[in-house]
Amino acid sequence: ATEVRLASRPHGTPTLDAFAIVDTEIPVPAPGQILVRNLVMSVDPAMRGRMRDVKSYVAPFEVGKVMSGGAVGEVIESTVDDFRPGDHVLHQLGWRTHAVVDAAKALKVDGSVAPLSSYLGVLGMPGLTAYAGLLESAEFQAGDTVFVSGAAGAVGSVVGQLAKLKGAARVIGSAGSAEKVRYLVDELGFDVAFNYKDGPVRDQLRDAAPDGIDVYFDNVGGDHLEAAIDSINLHGRIAVCGMISQYNATEPTPAPRNLGQIIAKRFTMRGLLVLDHAGLREQFLAEVAPLVASGRLTYSETFVDGIRNAPEAFLGLLSGANTGKMLVRLEGA
Ligand code: NDP
Repeated sequence: ATEVRLASRPHGTPTLDAFAIVDTEIPVPAPGQILVRNLVMSVDPAMRGRMRDVKSYVAPFEVGKVMSGGAVGEVIESTVDDFRPGDHVLHQLGWRTHAVVDAAKALKVDGSVAPLSSYLGVLGMPGLTAYAGLLESAEFQAGDTVFVSGAAGAVGSVVGQLAKLKGAARVIGSAGSAEKVRYLVDELGFDVAFNYKDGPVRDQLRDAAPDGIDVYFDNVGGDHLEAAIDSINLHGRIAVCGMISQYNATEPTPAPRNLGQIIAKRFTMRGLLVLDHAGLREQFLAEVAPLVASGRLTYSETFVDGIRNAPEAFLGLLSGANTGKMLVRLEGA
C-alpha cells in the first residue's frame, strides 16, 4: 500500500517537499470495518486550508500523517453484512491506495448509474456546493443575472449551468485561460465569459454585465469580490463559497475595499459551507443526476494518474491546471 502524508506545513505557495509518499503494509479491517482499494481520489482547494495549523470547520492535517479527503474505491474485504467485496464506496480517508473504513462512514455508490469519479465531482461534494450555494445561500431566482468566478472548475461549472437551466437572464463566468473561456461559452452555455488575467476584473465584469449582476457566486475572493460589489444591483446576493486567490497568501489581504457599498445597495453577503447543506443531498441528486444523465448538464474531469503524482495534482489545482474536477486516478480504475 502507498499513502501521501503531509511532510511539512507550507508557507505561501506549496511545493512538492510539503508531501511525502510512503509505502506501508496493507491494513487489516477490524470488526465493523471494510478494506477499500481506492480507485479515484479527490483533489480539493480546501486541502490547502487544512495544511495550516489553524482552527477551522475541519481539523488541520497533522504533519507526518496521511492527508484525508474524498475517495471512491472498491471493497476488497468486509466484516459487515451491508458491504460485499466488489461494492463501490465513497469515503473520506483520502490519499492512500488502501483504506480501512468504518462501515458506518462509507457510502455505497453505483458505477452503473454514473461514472464512479462523478461522485467526487458533479454528483458529489462540489456539485452539492454549487446547488446549495446557488439556491439557498444566494437565493437565486429566475431572471437573475449571475456572475460566478472559478467558473471552469468543479463547483463553478455546475453553478453556471444550473443558473442557466433555472432561467437566469444572463450568466457570466471568469476563468484563467482563453481555452477555459471558450469552454464556458461554447460547451457550458455561459452567455459571456472572460479571462481574469486579461485585464482588471472590474472593467471586464462591467463590460460583460452592463446592467449589473443580481447574484455573485464567489470562488475566488480579492479583486473578483471587489469587482462584484461594484457591479451588484440593489438587493443583490453574494454567496461566498471560496477565496482561492488568497489561500497561499502569507499576509491578510485587503480587498474588498468597497464593502461600504453594502449599505447603499443593501446587498447580502453570506458565507457558504457545504456541510451545512447535507440535508439537501437527496433533492440535489434527484434533480441533478437526471440532468447529467441526459447531457443537459455537462461536466469535465482532469485526471492525474498514480498516487505518487497526487502532490503534482494538488499544485496543479492551485495554478489552474484543471478544467472541471481535479482527480487522481489509481491503478485498476
Ligand atoms: P476548482 O475546480 O475550481 O479548482 C480551483 C481553480 O481555482 C483552479 O482551476 C484555478 O482556475 C482557480 N484559481 C486558482 N488560483 C486562482 C486565483 N488566484 N484567482 C482566480 N482563480 C484561481 O476547485 P473547486 O471547484 O473544488 O472549488 C472552487 C472554490 O470553492 C474554492 O475556493 C474552494 O475552496 C471552494 N469550495 C468551498 C466549499 C464550501 O463548502 N464553502 C466546498 C467546495 C469548494 P483558473 O484557471 O480559472 O485560475
